[in-house]
Amino acid sequence: MAYKKFKAGSLFTGTEMLPSNHILIANEDATIEAIVDETEAGDDVQVLNGIITPGFINSHCHLELSHMKGLVPEHTGLVDFVFSIVTQRHFAEGEITAAIKNGEDEMLANGIVAVGDICNNMLTLPQKQQQRLAYYNFVEVSGWNPSIAAMRFQKSMEYYTGFSQLPIRNSQLSLSPHAPYSVSNELWELLQTGFPNKTVTIHNQETAFEDALFKAGSGDFLRMYQAMGIDNSFFVPTSKSSLQSYIGKMEDARNVLLVHNTFSSEEDIASVQQLASKLLQPTFFCLCPNANQYIENAMPPLDVLRKYNAAIVLGTDSLASNWSLSIVDEIKTLRKHFPLVPLEEMLQWATINGAKALQMDKKLGSFEKGKKPGIVSLSEDLTELKRIM
Ligand SMILES: [Zn+2]
Repeated sequence: MAYKKFKAGSLFTGTEMLPSNHILIANEDATIEAIVDETEAGDDVQVLNGIITPGFINSHCHLELSHMKGLVPEHTGLVDFVFSIVTQRHFAEGEITAAIKNGEDEMLANGIVAVGDICNNMLTLPQKQQQRLAYYNFVEVSGWNPSIAAMRFQKSMEYYTGFSQLPIRNSQLSLSPHAPYSVSNELWELLQTGFPNKTVTIHNQETAFEDALFKAGSGDFLRMYQAMGIDNSFFVPTSKSSLQSYIGKMEDARNVLLVHNTFSSEEDIASVQQLASKLLQPTFFCLCPNANQYIENAMPPLDVLRKYNAAIVLGTDSLASNWSLSIVDEIKTLRKHFPLVPLEEMLQWATINGAKALQMDKKLGSFEKGKKPGIVSLSEDLTELKRIM
């Protein structure tokens, strides 16, 4: 068997940044063989610029919304954004499926190898059947009014069955709640039966109004319910933050994947970390900084998350709320706002942590023997990226 050997300015393994005397060796089919010192590597070493890294994991995307690129104005705030998505997402099917293919092409070109993808319909299934990327499909369930819980659950089960046709080799599947403000207790109970062994994801505290709703039954969500004709009279505020009101409902999930966390308080983050260690439950905080910039003109509390050793992962969200589907673009934005955080740490979020969150770390996320994580080269200034294998 012929080997491929690579050397660069640095070799990021998925967990650490190694200096340039380390050589990555892979089989011809891109399976990782070893990392060795250059004195032991022999001939035919290909020299690349910048950093060699495993392929990236996009832990939060909505590929099915790719056709909405540029449609919703920036900085509207979440409530008006959600309203725009719900009312404007319907296009001719051909336009939607063409945009889905372009979105997947863009992720491939940007070195992404696996995606945690939110699904509200079956339109991404034909593209995913081509198996160019690995997917954890999160069939998203919502329904605020308790009276529609059974109906919504049944509809989502149909999609779940549809996506379960995908080969298990590189796709996984769960039913996941959309957001605290869109899932009733009755619907949570139906969902909970499917949580064991699954990664369960939820949009968390993407706006400050989520806490206002749960603490006091006030704030901008009341305007959204009214605009959408949703009866909210049944809702009883919990006097707690949104996160602390629902996090206990996810305790049967294998992994918890909290997305956005833009307005999570230090107290919330501390209590989630405490619960995760009590339950021995891997809990991941997914940051989508470009979407936060696009919608709320906000940034997530990265310093607090790091203070509590939170397991961070990165996501692009959809093209409805982002300019690109690129994990490197998310890293660039984080580096602009948090220049003191080492690149090595951010690359861990983008590779091994994402692979763990999506239960794909046996194959992806790091350069360990037998894995096939994809090999990407990245210039030191992050402006140039190339898929090597
Ligand atoms: Zn999202």
